[in-house]
Amino acid sequence: MALRINRVRAVAANDAGFSDLLAVLPDGAGPCLCCRRHSPDSPALILVADESDDDPRVLCAAVCSMCSTAYPANQLLADWVERLVMRYGGTAVPDHRFERG
Ligand SMILES: [Zn+2]
Repeated sequence: MALRINRVRAVAANDAGFSDLLAVLPDGAGPCLCCRRHSPDSPALILVADESDDDPRVLCAAVCSMCSTAYPANQLLADWVERLVMRYGGTAVPDHRFERG
């Protein structure tokens, strides 16, 4: 079953649950969503997209501290969702996106 992107939120480094998200990010934090740079520091912001509380699958993207201060969270979220929709041809994310290995 595909994951339908239903909710998005931005979790800041001092928000509850941030360290949990950091732990499930693929490849550690990965490159920044905006500038694509690998920062040695942990990201300042993690963008999260999911379907509902019933589905544990989430999509995450890291934003470095420079970009998180340069752009408002709402704009980062909107740009990210637009990118996801373009990549997947809609808000349904196929299953294989969540398979490991
Ligand atoms: Zn950045």
